[in-house]
Amino acid sequence: AAQEGFDAEEVESELAAAGHGPLPVLAVVGRPNVGKSTLVNRIIGRREAVVEDRPGVTRDRVTYEAEWAGRRFKVVDTGGWEQDVLGIDASVAAQAEYAIEAADAVVFVVDATVGATDTDEAVVKLLRRAGKPVVLCANKVDGPSAEADAAMLWALGLGEPMPVSALHGRGTGDMLDEVLKALPEAPAATFGGVVGGPRRIALIGRPNVGKSSLLNKVAGEERVVVNELAGTTRDPVDELIELGGTTWKFVDTAGIRKRVHLQEGADYYASLRTAAAVEKAEVAVILIDASETISVQDQRIITMAVEAGRAMVIAFNKWDTLDEERRYYLEREIETELQQISWAPRVNVSARTGRHMEKLVPAIETALAGWETRVPTGRLNAFLGELVSAHPHPIRGGKQPRILFGTQAGTKPPRFVLFASGFLEAGYRRFVERRLREEFGFEGTPIHLSVRVRE
Ligand code: GDP
Ligand code: GDP
Repeated sequence: AAQEGFDAEEVESELAAAGHGPLPVLAVVGRPNVGKSTLVNRIIGRREAVVEDRPGVTRDRVTYEAEWAGRRFKVVDTGGWEQDVLGIDASVAAQAEYAIEAADAVVFVVDATVGATDTDEAVVKLLRRAGKPVVLCANKVDGPSAEADAAMLWALGLGEPMPVSALHGRGTGDMLDEVLKALPEAPAATFGGVVGGPRRIALIGRPNVGKSSLLNKVAGEERVVVNELAGTTRDPVDELIELGGTTWKFVDTAGIRKRVHLQEGADYYASLRTAAAVEKAEVAVILIDASETISVQDQRIITMAVEAGRAMVIAFNKWDTLDEERRYYLEREIETELQQISWAPRVNVSARTGRHMEKLVPAIETALAGWETRVPTGRLNAFLGELVSAHPHPIRGGKQPRILFGTQAGTKPPRFVLFASGFLEAGYRRFVERRLREEFGFEGTPIHLSVRVRE
């Protein structure tokens, strides 16, 4: 194809950047005040500026994208705290457990000026059990005189303590080099490493929407005896369930079932658990209580799944309780509140009566199919050519930016790179996305669209 003003190398590197699959996940864990958040900010650097402009969302956010030495990965920050809910040790253990569970590698942060505490020792036990690669960060080593403090942490038995000052940046580069050595290229936690293994579903939603009820309903007597399945490793928090003739892996069901001694108001843990489940899954089934107004919390959970780039199904639960009036208002709410994900298949279910349970699997399959769709370059460019001539970009400052060509750089979710002769306005990019969906489907999946402008 003619690449009008872009050299082949440029195109290649753009596609490589956009076409990356799911990213490996790094969890940053440790006691309160050891400097986890400071370290995470250091790791993600200025990229953070782009993250959230909606008030109230940042607080809930626990995963971020980062890049070091040309490699990208996700960072799970466990800096948020609700110490009142649990005792301090239990708090640290609970948050670390979620994060470690979802991670491919862990940075364990210890305050070198304080030394290892009992709580730190408790985390070490968790880390041993999880068997994930660990980089030990001896933080608050602000100058050479504190190096001796760092060396004391050899005693934890986690290998070499990396002396770091998250506050000043000292040693963080060396630590990140170690992190890259520990992180696999592809996220094992996400795709299980079991080729052809069961598809992974995260059942998520705010407290009391009916996650546990739904899980019990679908599991019923259909629960698969794990040993019957050759080649599957037993992961105590995941559950294999047969539905519609296929075995699915529901991830993090332990979190749903035991609800980790959670009380009302433990929002932070709920967020962390949700983020961890989403990271491990290919498809998120987002449960919404249809009997109540769609809430900000529902929206946040949806945002998490969209930003993680997962296939998605929206299940409106408690349908058995709906009267005519509520159904009317729900329709209106869907139009206004769920516009951003109008592409997600919706099913109206009742975990109590079993209503429409059989519709869940087809919706999940649809979403996964959309998530994996690949549009051949020829077809894509024929489509783009028509679109550009029928609906050219508005003229700006005497110039008319044009899409020259495009390629799908990756799937899961579909990622497109458009090469253009000038800056494409957000409105036009949204229009292109809408038209792409009309043309090629992509039901149940977010789409990534990046635009490369010719210099
Ligand atoms: P978190 O609770 O583990 O997320 O800890 P924070 O990142 O909120 O840090 C707790 C406190 O330690 C803050 O006052 C930070 O400024 C301080 N801190 C973090 N890293 C360093 C460091 O490398 N050196 C020093 N001196 N202070 C630090
Ligand atoms: P979770 O916190 O999301 O796991 O929610 P639960 O499964 O514990 O359900 C919360 C409450 O909603 C419980 O009292 C359930 O019995 C009830 N519930 C769950 N699903 C349904 C449903 O489909 N219909 C009705 N009427 N109640 C439901």
